[in-house]
Amino acid sequence: MRSLSFILAISLLSSITSNAQPDRWQQHVKYTMDVNMDVNTNRFSGKQKLEYTNNSPDTLFKVFYHLYWNAFQPNSMMDTRSRELGKIKVNGRPDWDGRVKDRILNLKPDEVGYQKVLSLKMDGVAQNYQVDETILEVKLSKPILPHSKVVFDMDFEAQVPLQVRRSGRDNPQTGVRYSMSQWYPKISEYDYEGWHPTPYVAREFYGVWGDYDVKITIDKSYMLAGSGYLQNPNLIGFGYETPGTKVPEVKGNTITWNFIAPNVHDFVWAADPQFHHLVRTVPNGPTINVVYKYKEGDQKNEDAWKEVADAAVIVLPFIEKKFGKYPYKQYSFIQGGDGGMEYPMATLISGPGVGTAFHEWMHSWFQGMFGTNESMYAWIDEGFTEFATDEVEDFYYSQPSVRAKYDASRLKVMDSVAALLPLKHRGNYQNYFYVVKSGLEEPLTTHADHFNTNLAYSIAAYSKGCLFLSQLGYIIGEDTRDKVLLEYYRLWKFKHPNANDFVQVAEKVSGVKLDWYKEWWTATTKTIDYGIDSLWEEDGKTKIRLRMVGKMPMPLDVQIEYRNGDKEIIYIPQYLMFGEKPVEDKSIPRTTVEPWKWTHPTYVFELKHKIIDLKAAEIDPTQRMADVDRKNNRLELSW
Ligand SMILES: [Zn+2]
Repeated sequence: MRSLSFILAISLLSSITSNAQPDRWQQHVKYTMDVNMDVNTNRFSGKQKLEYTNNSPDTLFKVFYHLYWNAFQPNSMMDTRSRELGKIKVNGRPDWDGRVKDRILNLKPDEVGYQKVLSLKMDGVAQNYQVDETILEVKLSKPILPHSKVVFDMDFEAQVPLQVRRSGRDNPQTGVRYSMSQWYPKISEYDYEGWHPTPYVAREFYGVWGDYDVKITIDKSYMLAGSGYLQNPNLIGFGYETPGTKVPEVKGNTITWNFIAPNVHDFVWAADPQFHHLVRTVPNGPTINVVYKYKEGDQKNEDAWKEVADAAVIVLPFIEKKFGKYPYKQYSFIQGGDGGMEYPMATLISGPGVGTAFHEWMHSWFQGMFGTNESMYAWIDEGFTEFATDEVEDFYYSQPSVRAKYDASRLKVMDSVAALLPLKHRGNYQNYFYVVKSGLEEPLTTHADHFNTNLAYSIAAYSKGCLFLSQLGYIIGEDTRDKVLLEYYRLWKFKHPNANDFVQVAEKVSGVKLDWYKEWWTATTKTIDYGIDSLWEEDGKTKIRLRMVGKMPMPLDVQIEYRNGDKEIIYIPQYLMFGEKPVEDKSIPRTTVEPWKWTHPTYVFELKHKIIDLKAAEIDPTQRMADVDRKNNRLELSW
């Protein structure tokens, strides 16, 4: 049985390597933008040329753009939604985002954000358009035919909002002057589901891949960092210049920075006159920029940003081995924003924590490279990133060069925490158990903006999404799960996969059906709870009855401990798997028994030993299954 499934697994693996790439169509953009920033009024004017290629089989009669900054105006959807959430108390505290609260309502005219479209032409012909808050709708004078390209030319102006959420100016927490995300009119994504004119209510983005050529003219004292490669580094300086170059003095008050970002679905930048710049190069890899606000005499701040730069170099080989190659020649950690937010080729982080830095960088995979529709699949975006963050952090803190920074007592605490079960993603298991108990849990399939509470969104997207992969390791084996992640990368990077696409890759790589797992875990809030019901002896053999107490089925590892010190795993596949996972721990013999059909509340299996030989039985001894009540998982026999 075991050797048969082994051969089966090998033939499956050889068949996947010859799998063709998926051929799902996607739209394409090429933005050429030229903006002129006035650092006194915090306003800029811009020209945008958008070459839009309709690769779909559909004729498009209209197009939509996002005007994100219009959310930062009193009574916007973002403002109203936040204040409504503020009326809900969770643990005695308002459920609103502590950064947003009712701050938008109180923004003064020179503090609000806006993006105003002054003119819009398609192929030289003026277009009719209407703006409703964060969405611009254009009824085209002429439809865009399938497989054709048009050019939109837009004049626009914008006011940078006072920092409320993600983008803005003068966040007192960081002192950074400009965090420029969602700063330009951006065409919505059109895919096999149609247009996605998702208003900016709170979170999540979905964009079209393409190339960005951005020119920013700004006061010459400001240093910039952002997505894309700087085209004129030797005229700009600020640490971007080729070492040894003499940067010419700038005549006049402004200078124009030119960035080109290829094959990205967004473009971010930040600017400040006190930015400092650290540069690292990963051997055979990208250049790492760390750009942060210099604080006079604050060595701790300097050291912390230096650690971010050095940590990035340490972890990248591990990340690429586990999740696939980083495809760009540059990545920038930029101080800005109001927490941590991911963008292509860069992140804005408000402070120098390596955990946040790892998280945002891992979004380069689970967002930057996959571009899954985050509104619909926040759990893939945040959950898979969270999973990867935990893995990268575990790797980082196990490195001798990193451990050398801590004294013996601190290491002892770190090691004792690391030894607790489950060995990985423990914090995310705890968050999930917490939201289940709170009664506020909602299914992962909920649209990211539609959760009743921020709490339910956060734990669903981050923790339950992380557990999707952690438990997948339990269901198909961790080595197989890791192969799934690499195959997913190979097949789906730069292609906007959805949840089914991931599950199909996982099924092909593992040889196990997993649609049931996706269905129960993401579309319901049903929970897992298995218990040991009873045991008895018949004809010198021990029978053990298990009970499915929860409503979500899973395969079970049941570990039997004998009084002579031997251990054995009884492995009960879930019937709907139509397959089984390989042996994970070769040091413990495993017996595979008949699959458990989920319709059956109990299951009995038999051991060759007498009951007196048994010391203990335990369901899921590794604790990777998110069993909401572990009190009934272990039975100890005291003879
Ligand atoms: Zn994230």
